[in-house]
Amino acid sequence: MTQDQSGSEAFDAVDVIRAKRDRGELSDPQIDWVVDAYTRGAVADEQMSALAMAILLNGMNRREISRWTSAMIGSGERMDFSSLSRRTSDKHSTGGVGDKITLPLAPLVAACGVAVPQLSGRGLGHTGGTLDKLEAVPGWRADVSNAQMMEQLESVGAVICAAGAELAPADKKLYALRDVTGTVESLPLIASSVMSKKIAEGTGSLVLDVKVGSGAFMKDVEQARELARTMVQLGTDAGVTTVALITGMQTPLGLTAGNALEVRESVEVLAGGGPPDVVELTLALAREMLAAAGQDGVDPADKLADGSAMDVWTAMIRAQGGDPDAALPVAREQHQVLAPADGVLMRLDALAVGMAAWRLGAGRARKEDRVQAGAGVQMHAKPGASVRSGDLLMTLHTDTPERFDRALQALEGSYDIGPEGGRPDLLPLLVDRVAAG
Ligand code: URA
Repeated sequence: MTQDQSGSEAFDAVDVIRAKRDRGELSDPQIDWVVDAYTRGAVADEQMSALAMAILLNGMNRREISRWTSAMIGSGERMDFSSLSRRTSDKHSTGGVGDKITLPLAPLVAACGVAVPQLSGRGLGHTGGTLDKLEAVPGWRADVSNAQMMEQLESVGAVICAAGAELAPADKKLYALRDVTGTVESLPLIASSVMSKKIAEGTGSLVLDVKVGSGAFMKDVEQARELARTMVQLGTDAGVTTVALITGMQTPLGLTAGNALEVRESVEVLAGGGPPDVVELTLALAREMLAAAGQDGVDPADKLADGSAMDVWTAMIRAQGGDPDAALPVAREQHQVLAPADGVLMRLDALAVGMAAWRLGAGRARKEDRVQAGAGVQMHAKPGASVRSGDLLMTLHTDTPERFDRALQALEGSYDIGPEGGRPDLLPLLVDRVAAG
């Protein structure tokens, strides 16, 4: 009950803000009210901004996070896939540079017999969005009705689409506000944002890819572990089998950051090739999703090798109006970045590459902006590779060459070349695994 019978509000937003500002705990009724009142428009954006900043600075305990998540789920509809003939599993990444894993992963897991309902978002800031990537495929549409989603899950086994307006609307409003108020990087707000959408979506099991490193929201491993534990607990409490992998994001995943560039690389993985780190993470996440859905005895590596994952990709793209055989867009202009010395590439910073791709036009600064399908950064060497002075390190792609200068500024100081024989000091790709209990 967030309004009393006379229709007046049950709490005063300023009292709720003051309580968190002064490091107090919010009560369950306060949380239910503030999330509902913000969704209805009875709490103003500036009040929710102040509360989000107080939460970022002073945190929330597990009870508060759990209640906040439930309130966000309760702000909209819940989907239900229990009538499908197959079990469902979903993956969510907390966001990184070059993270195109959803593209090969969803058809791969479907090819192994588990249905994948993947509700995805668009990119904002330096991390790309899965829907922007897939929209580089000519004709492909992100909007799918709930009925079509059920039909496609049954017939194809995988759907990647935009979440409908009715799924956790409180999160949609709050995420957009956090994005412009410097309040994204808050553990309670990230955990409740991710898990409210995933629980409302109704998946039977969930595998989380919690990124750590310069290109991720969580910059150190202990923070990432705490976020993973919190989300696994929220999922488990809601009856969703939930596991998290903590994975390195100090350097970009694969050799591309940018929409069409990443689709091309994903198709290479589905064809049995592709960069080793993308293949390794795709297979690790696929194995976790299959185990979480109780589908033992299928090796996803076989489904990459025998072409069945590629068949699901083709069917999935066609079912949403796309032409899987059409040429992907290519940017009109290219600029080459060359190695300044002989030696070993010791570092290639994920955040800098993500910023450069964004500035080249692969991402958007405001929700209304259009992205360039062909823009982005193609890498020709990753940390650990030996290079000679003058070798190609990166190719920058854009339709608007006036963007090259700002992209090159983002890349200044983003890589080091060390003496021959040097070994980069990087986190491993698979840092840790967090399960319930
Ligand atoms: N992804 C989300 O969905 N929400 C966040 O708050 C951060 C990453």
